[in-house]
Amino acid sequence: MQEEGVDALLLSVGPDLPYFTGYEAMPLERLTMLVVPRESDAVLVVPRLEAPRVEERPEVFCVDAWDEVDDPVARVAALVDGARSVAVGDHTWARFVLAMQSALPRAQFCAASHVTAPLRAVKDADEIEALYAAARSVDEIAIEMRERPFAGRTEREVHRELMERILDVGHERVNFAIVATGPNAASPHHDPADRVIAKGDVVLCDFGGTMHGYCSDITRMFAVGEPDAEVRDAYAALRVAQEAGVQSAQVGATYEAVDAAARDVLVGAGFGDAFVHRTGHGIGMEAHEDPYVVAGNTTELVAGHAFSIEPGVYLPGRFGLRLEDIVVATADGPRRLNDAPRDLAIVA
Ligand code: ZN
Ligand code: ZN
Ligand code: ZN
Repeated sequence: MQEEGVDALLLSVGPDLPYFTGYEAMPLERLTMLVVPRESDAVLVVPRLEAPRVEERPEVFCVDAWDEVDDPVARVAALVDGARSVAVGDHTWARFVLAMQSALPRAQFCAASHVTAPLRAVKDADEIEALYAAARSVDEIAIEMRERPFAGRTEREVHRELMERILDVGHERVNFAIVATGPNAASPHHDPADRVIAKGDVVLCDFGGTMHGYCSDITRMFAVGEPDAEVRDAYAALRVAQEAGVQSAQVGATYEAVDAAARDVLVGAGFGDAFVHRTGHGIGMEAHEDPYVVAGNTTELVAGHAFSIEPGVYLPGRFGLRLEDIVVATADGPRRLNDAPRDLAIVA
């Protein structure tokens, strides 16, 4: 906070609050807010009826429960009285931010992620272990999928099976299960539909959830029967691009250099225009969080950063391909958390 010139940090719904306190606020019209003044102790302002869910940690924060007739915004404003720079949690409801701005007319507001994102980006050993456990369990699903029949089923059926398996292997929550087949896969975040999978299709499966508070995210590709030469060539280039992205993820490199390492391979293979998104995103308590592997991000990789490397090739009207692993930057080089086979699996 000192480095960023922030006098008070206000955290409401979203992952910052559980990251620092272990308490996850319910997204309610009743305000929950952790007030962290730079020069004094942290206070969790919480609705009285939610207070029993708070695990008290007096060494970290004290609890200020408000009653139905109280004005929680006035309470927060009183706690940060005189603050000139206030950082407010990125997921805070706009109505509370607007009320807070009226209550503190002389304060400048900025996004709390200026303070919290660099802290959350560096994972400690327990967090990496949690990400690894989540990655291993989606690997298991990706491996099983190689033996499953695809032809004759709809995208929605495969999507439902993936969601069920994500929970079966120990996640508490499914975050997404993209199943995009044939030409639908040219839309990177296609919503599973009633399209029936047929021989000759390529199938993109991108899925993940939250396990013990940390996210998984993997993409693997399946071909129903032998793929044609065009698909094989594009997939070969994609694999080289993904490997180049992973290998370039060295401590001290910039995120834009990692993006370029993957992108240059696809540009060289003639698929530059077909790679329409950034190479990856940070992952932790959120499926997508800082740091982003994208041109223009000159942040350097630090040991403990965890992120996806997921180049793709999208050819509208024809097909789409993506390959994704979660990687952790370490002093000994990049460590992949996913280990399911990366070839284009031929399925029935
Ligand atoms: Zn995505
Ligand atoms: Zn993904
Ligand atoms: Zn991803």
